[in-house]
Amino acid sequence: MHRLKFWRSLRLRLFVIIFLVGLIPSLFIKNSILKGYEERAVRVRTADVQNQLSILANHLITYNYLIDTSSEVVNAELNLLSNLYSGRVMVINNRLKIVKDTYGISEGKTMVSEEVVRCLNGESGISNYDSVNGYIELTVPITETISQTAATDELPEGSVVCRGVLLASTSTDTIMTTIMILGRRSQIIELIVIILLLGISVLLSLVLVKPFNRISRQIESVKSGMSIEPLTAADYLETQHIVSSFNSLLDKMRKIDESRREFVSNVSHELKTPLTSVKILADSLNAENDVPVEVYRDFMTDITQEIEREDKIINDLLELVKMDKDATSLNISTVDINALSEIILKRMRPIARKNEVELTLVSLREVSAEVDEVKISLILTNLVENAIKYNSPGGNATVTVDADHQYFTIEVTDTGQGIPEDELDSIFERFYRVDKSHSRQIGGTGLGLAITKSAVMLHKGSVCVKSTVGEGSTFTVRIPLKA
Ligand code: ADP
Repeated sequence: MHRLKFWRSLRLRLFVIIFLVGLIPSLFIKNSILKGYEERAVRVRTADVQNQLSILANHLITYNYLIDTSSEVVNAELNLLSNLYSGRVMVINNRLKIVKDTYGISEGKTMVSEEVVRCLNGESGISNYDSVNGYIELTVPITETISQTAATDELPEGSVVCRGVLLASTSTDTIMTTIMILGRRSQIIELIVIILLLGISVLLSLVLVKPFNRISRQIESVKSGMSIEPLTAADYLETQHIVSSFNSLLDKMRKIDESRREFVSNVSHELKTPLTSVKILADSLNAENDVPVEVYRDFMTDITQEIEREDKIINDLLELVKMDKDATSLNISTVDINALSEIILKRMRPIARKNEVELTLVSLREVSAEVDEVKISLILTNLVENAIKYNSPGGNATVTVDADHQYFTIEVTDTGQGIPEDELDSIFERFYRVDKSHSRQIGGTGLGLAITKSAVMLHKGSVCVKSTVGEGSTFTVRIPLKA
């Protein structure tokens, strides 16, 4: 576990990769150079010995050595060859009998060897290299070209007859010694290469990881509150991505923090306003002696209104806080949207009547959706309430329910005062009101549309508004039929 953790370090990985990338090719090159040398040395030695044996084979025929091995010249040549290549030479006649062995141990014996038989059958230049035991074994045929005097019917003049085989084995000790020396030297070079590679790997891994370290230092200083500056370490494309992602996250967090602060200050302000009014009303009552009962009643009515306002703000705030949770907080059931709209409109009719606004429900389709009934009620209530509140006497407010195969829509249209175009984006913000004093006067808290938007978002839907000042507004809510 501990080791795995260690391996997760980018620096360590870079170090190992760079080291291996340097080491493996150099080991490969070293081995192929040594192997190449060995192959070439064996080839040269084989060709050398084969040449010498071919010359010797001619002498053997000249001195009729296969019949009579007493020729001192040939024997001397055989010994010389044997000494020169620190090996053994055997002369074998065509009946596979060893007529001469420079080691003198196998003379007179029969040689049964595949190579010898193949050589007697005319195959020339057979050689075997035994790298384990360190010798090369090779065979050369002893051939005679039939002269005019020796020619017979079976062997006409000029024909070539194989009289025997020269079998030699030569030690490759000298080649091995050279390879050993070369190997030892290359080991020293290898050691130097390893030390250099270690140094380069450590250096490169440190240098390559540096931008990442710089980023983490900068993030640390942002985390500890020492800096609020955007990150700057952008040496690589990868670090550029990290930096830009972090900076946009930082920006988002800053905006969230700003809006949180603004929200807290708005909440305090909104909650304080009714309390201040209550205090002023109560103080002025206390300051007067013998206040008539009617004045008392008037003041108490105002105080009650302010308390109701405070209560509404608190309730709306609690609703918003509830809405800040995720979609899992939805209480989903199958809801008849047409029936629900009918109920809400029925509930709103007294206020509409009071404001002299005509309230109509248009059901273009029967809609049944899997939604949170309480939250959809909230959406409808807020939109219809606004369509009445911001309307003028004699105006209309129409709720239209429709659906396609995926979504249902609730459209709330009014013939009220409308909203200026540059304010359309802001009306869904918490506590935002186009006309603050008018909104407050008619009992608005500035939270209705924020609550509506949150409820729509929880259902993964959308809400949009179109409005013309002086003509009216249309709010359209679009929500998936299945949550
Ligand atoms: P409020 O409690 O003040 O009504 P909302 O969040 O519901 O708060 O609305 C925010 C502001 O948007 C309102 O103060 C009002 O200025 C504007 N608004 C909302 N609905 C309408 C509408 N149907 N017609 C005109 N203005 C509207």
